[in-house]
Amino acid sequence: QATTKPPPLPSPLRNSKFFQSNMRILVTGGAGFIGSHLVDRLMENEKNEVIVVDNFFTGSKDNLKKWIGHPRFELIRHDVTETLLVEVDQIYHLACPASPIFYKYNPVKTIKTNVIGTLNMLGLAKRVGARILLTSTSEVYGDPLVHPQPESYWGNVNPIGVRSCYDEGKRVAETLMFDYHRQHGIEIRIARIFNTYGPRMNIDDGRVVSNFIAQAIRDEPLTVQLPGTQTRSFCYVSDMVDGLIRLMEGEHTGPINIGNPGEFTMLELAETVKALINPNVEIKTVENTPDDPRQRKPDITKAKELLGWEPKIKLREGLPLMEEDFRQRLGVAEKK
Ligand code: NAD
Ligand code: UDP
Ligand code: UDP
Repeated sequence: QATTKPPPLPSPLRNSKFFQSNMRILVTGGAGFIGSHLVDRLMENEKNEVIVVDNFFTGSKDNLKKWIGHPRFELIRHDVTETLLVEVDQIYHLACPASPIFYKYNPVKTIKTNVIGTLNMLGLAKRVGARILLTSTSEVYGDPLVHPQPESYWGNVNPIGVRSCYDEGKRVAETLMFDYHRQHGIEIRIARIFNTYGPRMNIDDGRVVSNFIAQAIRDEPLTVQLPGTQTRSFCYVSDMVDGLIRLMEGEHTGPINIGNPGEFTMLELAETVKALINPNVEIKTVENTPDDPRQRKPDITKAKELLGWEPKIKLREGLPLMEEDFRQRLGVAEKK
């Protein structure tokens, strides 16, 4: 008797035409400030399915409430220092506390998140053949001796200071990315993000823009940490998200600086917030914390040339957009 072949197994849904044209994207740290804005932008494209993985250390479900229950969206409570099994095409790896108060709170955990977390996401990228983007930081330049900072600058970082869990953690994360790229052929992208601000920042996370805006709204003195002449360059979050997506979709591994080159001293920032939000508020100086970088400004030549990207929103335009969100969350209406 002739043997009959069993019928072929039904192809998994994943291989169907519908899913092939879709892009499944993992965003680690997607419940955080930058991550949730990135998710908003990715979800606008109907061909994207988005999976967020977050342990809610500094992020919250509230930032994603408009997507919970959406058929193209999934939210998973998970810590990236543990193994993760999902099938995805791209990974935006953001998970890591970004504010000094939070990353110094449990420095050993911050190192684990940067090192073991990034290793796990690279292992995942290797297993499923996904492209992975790491959100590194301008802090890899430490207290820079070169100004503004180009990507070719190797940095001036204290390996044993209170900020090292973050700075050195991200430096190792970048090393891991390049070693997986060279050793296993993983497609990598590295963004070096400079100070970013906008709606949904944690109100009490101690970062300077969120502090000043909350203080101005609450009519409390703006706390400029000494000497006040230290500088930062602030990028509005929609510009940042645009830069990250261009980097992911482009052909260049990076590292590429993504930030706004407009540079301000902390005293100038305080004066600007005062002028825009509360002209009667007091500005006072307070003690600083150790190893605070004295100056920081991105050289964005590479981002302009390789990604066709540059920021559009000036500080004076971005601050009022953030004020609205802070007033709502603090429950303080504007004075008439
Ligand atoms: P954020 O703290 O708002 O978001 C980080 C998110 O990661 C949070 O939702 C948090 O709960 C989650 N997370 C932290 N540890 C985790 C872990 N072990 N497992 C799973 N989830 C974890 O910070 P952000 O400002 O949105 O920063 C996002 C990324 O951008 C970070 O990687 C940060 O280092 C980088 N970055 C931010 C800035 C900035 O100015 N905001 C500057 C440079 C770099
Ligand atoms: N990993 C993961 N998800 C995966 C594949 C790997 O979380 O889908 C983790 C795995 O637990 C390991 C890390 O990624 O700790 C590095 O994986 P890789 O395969 O590169 O290294 P190995 O497992 O051989 O040490
Ligand atoms: N800073 C300040 N007042 C505050 C909080 C911060 O003057 O209430 C200063 C801080 O000393 C630093 C700069 O603002 O020079 C940026 O600090 P932030 O914590 O926002 O970010 P990072 O140091 O990571 O750039």
